[in-house]
Amino acid sequence: MAKINHKRTKIVATIGPSSWNEDTLRRIIRAGVDVARINFSHGDHETHSRSIDLVRRIAAEEGHVIAIMCDIQGPKIRIGKVAHEPITLQKGDRVVLTLDDVPGDNNTFQLPHPEFLRDIKSGTHLLLDDGKVEFLVKETTPRSLICENLFEGMLSSRKGVTAPKATLTLSAITDKDREDIKFALSKKTDYIAMSFVRSTEDIREMRWLIRHLSGDHVAIIAKIEKHEALVNIEGIVDAADGIMVARGDLGIETPAEEVPFHQKRIIQLCNMAGKPVITATQMLNSMVESPRPTRAEASDVYNAIVDGTDAVMLSNETASGDFPIEAVETMARIAVIAEQHIWENRPQQVAMQREKAQGQEAVADAISQATSDISRLLEPSAIITSTLTGYTARRVARERPKKTILCVTPNEITYRRMALVWGVVPILIEQFNTIDDMIDIVVKAAHHQQLVQRGDVIIIIAGVPFGVGGQTNFLKIHIVGESGEL
Ligand code: PEP
Repeated sequence: MAKINHKRTKIVATIGPSSWNEDTLRRIIRAGVDVARINFSHGDHETHSRSIDLVRRIAAEEGHVIAIMCDIQGPKIRIGKVAHEPITLQKGDRVVLTLDDVPGDNNTFQLPHPEFLRDIKSGTHLLLDDGKVEFLVKETTPRSLICENLFEGMLSSRKGVTAPKATLTLSAITDKDREDIKFALSKKTDYIAMSFVRSTEDIREMRWLIRHLSGDHVAIIAKIEKHEALVNIEGIVDAADGIMVARGDLGIETPAEEVPFHQKRIIQLCNMAGKPVITATQMLNSMVESPRPTRAEASDVYNAIVDGTDAVMLSNETASGDFPIEAVETMARIAVIAEQHIWENRPQQVAMQREKAQGQEAVADAISQATSDISRLLEPSAIITSTLTGYTARRVARERPKKTILCVTPNEITYRRMALVWGVVPILIEQFNTIDDMIDIVVKAAHHQQLVQRGDVIIIIAGVPFGVGGQTNFLKIHIVGESGEL
């Protein structure tokens, strides 16, 4: 039986050495994790396979719906190995980045990415190790970049390199990614998070690959972390199934001080489109080493939720930190408090968004708004969305109704995907064919889960005809038991 957590906001937790043991996993799931993120920038398939199996087993034992999100590394550019690390570089040092396989020292580092080298021109600034080191490219040769180091700093093996202003022609999917995607599909992942998305073409390429590998069931989360993605953001939101504001790399690609603006805008666009959005990275970073968050971190989580994020994400906090359980508990507590204030600005925001809808979407919006209004007037016990694709549930969630949104679906893929959507409690039911059948089955399911009782007022919304998906055009105010369904 699915358990209802008090919070409505979803928590994505990255699984790693701090959380992949049975006891911690069970405790973070109990504390409110909804989506387990498997980070393919670290670890091997054997470890990931074990983590995914363990998450699924514990989730089933605990009666929680947990979605698996495989986060694919993408074309991350890294220097090679450094011989005697870390190396201290002085301001003004001349440094060569070369395709040649050399042991890194104070003057020369391997950069084994010919496509990257090809796109870099002299005058380009390169940021290494999340911006801790900065090089200015003075000269290029076919096999190297000759740079000046701009500040004193340390460098060690395999640190990342970014060129924030450069336009790179690298393929968005590397050979390693292909192997990782194949593996993720073999483990029946619910979501694939795609790194370094630049355009809708990147998403299309990923979708084509997934389809080619017979993984039609998998939803794509586009990670927004490139400056090009910000320019193409509306198309990307449209093409992807969900978005992650990947603030770590985004804060290197663009000035960190601009990240809050981009975050708010992306959340708003996703809300408008009814697509789930995750706010990620450094949300409770100090909890890697401390059992308590900073006041700024608590505000960050709170504000993202009030702004409309569906989910908040933990990275190192649960993957490698000392306090993974406390981090999830803290996030869940902040969420519950923030959720009491979501409604203050929400009606105006959503009304503005609604004006833009047309056709089927306008009908779905009218039903969702009516649901919200009726919910305020009648205070039903629950809003039941009967849906095949999850579209109806996402549309209603966008309104942030105060009542629990139950997503009852005969589709197992939708059932798990809904774990990411704000306020939605997924329930798996058997197939139905008629409206009467549907009412009978969904009410019984909600009653069985002890979410509604005989005599309760509930709102049922759906898309008919059944089996088509992608529309919401049916609304019934129902008294539990009135059709003899119990
Ligand atoms: C990020 O950059 O914020 C992010 C989530 O991506 P990754 O952890 O894969 O670098």
